[in-house]
Amino acid sequence: MTILRLIILTLAVYFIIPANGVAQTAHRKPPKNVILCISDGWSQNHILAANYFLNGKAEAQAYESFPLRLFMSTYPAKLKDGEDLKQFATGYDPARAWSDADYPRKGATCSAAAATAMACGQKTVNGAIGMDIHGKPLPNLTEMAEALGKATGVVTSVPISHATPAGFVAHNVHRNNYDQIARDMLLDSRVDVIMGCGHPQYGKGGETLSVTDNYKYVGGKETWEDLLAGRTEFRTAAPSGNNQVLDANGDGTPDPWSLVQDREGFLRLASGPAPTRVLGLAPVASTLQQDRPGDGKAPAFAAPFIVGMPTLREMTLAALNVLDGDPEGFFLMVEGGAIDWASHDNQSGRMIEEMDDFNRTVDALIEWVEVHSSWEETLLIVTGDHECGYLTGPVQQEGFNVKLPVLNHGQGTMPGMQWNHDNHTNQLIPLFARGAGSERALLFADEVDPVRGKYLNNTEIAQWINILWGTR
Ligand SMILES: [Zn+2]
Repeated sequence: MTILRLIILTLAVYFIIPANGVAQTAHRKPPKNVILCISDGWSQNHILAANYFLNGKAEAQAYESFPLRLFMSTYPAKLKDGEDLKQFATGYDPARAWSDADYPRKGATCSAAAATAMACGQKTVNGAIGMDIHGKPLPNLTEMAEALGKATGVVTSVPISHATPAGFVAHNVHRNNYDQIARDMLLDSRVDVIMGCGHPQYGKGGETLSVTDNYKYVGGKETWEDLLAGRTEFRTAAPSGNNQVLDANGDGTPDPWSLVQDREGFLRLASGPAPTRVLGLAPVASTLQQDRPGDGKAPAFAAPFIVGMPTLREMTLAALNVLDGDPEGFFLMVEGGAIDWASHDNQSGRMIEEMDDFNRTVDALIEWVEVHSSWEETLLIVTGDHECGYLTGPVQQEGFNVKLPVLNHGQGTMPGMQWNHDNHTNQLIPLFARGAGSERALLFADEVDPVRGKYLNNTEIAQWINILWGTR
């Protein structure tokens, strides 16, 4: 980063100037709606690669012009070897991050601990969903929003019970307990919208399966059959043993799920009257597009897409139409989940495809705010949960410069990219925000990285929103 850029960024951070030019004050009404967009696995280089391929230039995204631009640390809590349940945060050391090329590979978070940190405001160990390091359930943003009378929802491009949506709704000792987590989300929680993948009757390419035993993401075979039949009495109990299952509004009576299972259903749901509670499952096993058959290492958009699959953008518009009827407002978490999956597999093209859907989703959310709400009543946060793949520009030698940005080869041509890992890294990731209460994030951005500038900690997302809502 040049000195000039650092100065501009610092000024932009200190003087939050919204698009209408009116300086924001600290004494405002709490945001009616809070929308949190999470690009799972992203970093500055993921944004740059997508911008170069899709737009031929840097800084092409609307969210890159948001008044609040910061970075965020993502490290988890860790159990120290040989010490039972003693909290030991791995931490983030800015000096080592930019001097030791191997440093980012150590002490990275998983998506479960990252989602828990953002949703609950506390660091936890990798694998934990909505629980602290001792296995004690932590209240999450969805539950706090529900307590305020708000509608709530989670939308993802990967299975509905995967780590990120799970961390915002469920509580479990381990992210891999998909069936328990799904039943927690579907039967125990009060969340109003759950949308994503993990449909038991379809394969990774969207093909119909005549035989399947892939019911884990929807809570098991019995739960799935009960959902299909529209039952309010489920044969498999919710994990808590709570007898007020399916009660979204807390009135003691069940609120059954309306099931959407095809693209037409999502498109129809985007306008007009909507049911109060919707489970939307795209007709595919794992991801909307990233996990499809074909050449995974092909350039972006070269391998044919699954036809007839909804996009993350389309599912999000459907979710908004369900949630926006609540006079108290809503909390919505939207995850571009397969950016991470493509990055694990070092699939440059598919990562850019997934970033494209994520970027279009954020654009749709911006348009929704400007048409159906306003920046005075809605807070839109766009961030990630951790970096994945240790993406840099092409590197020639050992002990490389970790600052190398990906290289622009022009619109429609794959950028110069190099993956230096097949897993998550402990790097700072970007955070952008606009709207009601966005400037309050500055209260937390009290650490400074020599390259990225001011940053906050991922636990401070929940703390920031809680301050705005007055819930903590
Ligand atoms: Zn991952």
